Amino acid sequence: MQIRKPLLIISTALLIVSCATNPFTGKKTMALVPNSQLFPTSFAQYNEFLNENKVIKGTKDAEMITRVGQRIAVAAERWLNANGHQGYLKDYKWEYNLVDDKTVNAWCMPGGKIVFYTGILPIAKSETGVAAIMGHEVAHALANHGQQRMSAGMLQQLGAVAGNVAIKDEEKRNVFNQAYGVGSTVGVMLPFSRNHETEADQIGLYLMAVAGYNPDEAAELWKRMKANSGGQAPPEFLSTHPSNDTRISNLIKWAPRAKEEAKKFGITSFRD
Ligand SMILES: [Zn+2]
Repeated sequence: MQIRKPLLIISTALLIVSCATNPFTGKKTMALVPNSQLFPTSFAQYNEFLNENKVIKGTKDAEMITRVGQRIAVAAERWLNANGHQGYLKDYKWEYNLVDDKTVNAWCMPGGKIVFYTGILPIAKSETGVAAIMGHEVAHALANHGQQRMSAGMLQQLGAVAGNVAIKDEEKRNVFNQAYGVGSTVGVMLPFSRNHETEADQIGLYLMAVAGYNPDEAAELWKRMKANSGGQAPPEFLSTHPSNDTRISNLIKWAPRAKEEAKKFGITSFRD
């Protein structure tokens, strides 16, 4: 008995450390690498990515990415505060960049570090389309899906380097980039699970609506994604975000709910 008790306390403490309830889904999620370690690494990787790629500044498109990003971030903050999760975003350092790259891709790294590739803009088609992608990618980050799509072994590997800030070891850097969908040179990207995709679709739809963008457009966006995937090898984004009819019908079904949610924040009409 005297031996067992401390063990129980230790294991309970470990459980508390490694499990956090996701405010959007109410589900317990594993976080083997805490944000305090993960975010500095993420921010360093993000800066490295920006140094190695052509960042577009001052154009209409670049300004649009920033504008949409800021609105989605504000929507996330408002939604979290209204639902009793003040402080959830306190360590986030939001940043939105457009890079000149014909790859069809967009991602959000831990702590709110977002990149859009110019290659995804024709499929996004409009600012509202960008908002649908942005909402979805930010939702993956908020729900911590990137970490969960790493295997335990990969997490251990990353855990050993997280906190060292910049990941110099190329192999470990690839592990990180694969998990967060960064870049096109890495090779095989890890797809999100169907559950994570569904969660991100739902949360993303709410975020875009609260940000003032018409959630009806999300289904239209994924129809365009689907049309774009026909024929040759799927683009980067679609290899990690498979598009299907279930997703499209879900988005159509959930759009009225997202509009109801937006109403609670005083949004009764949407931007063009
Ligand atoms: Zn996704």
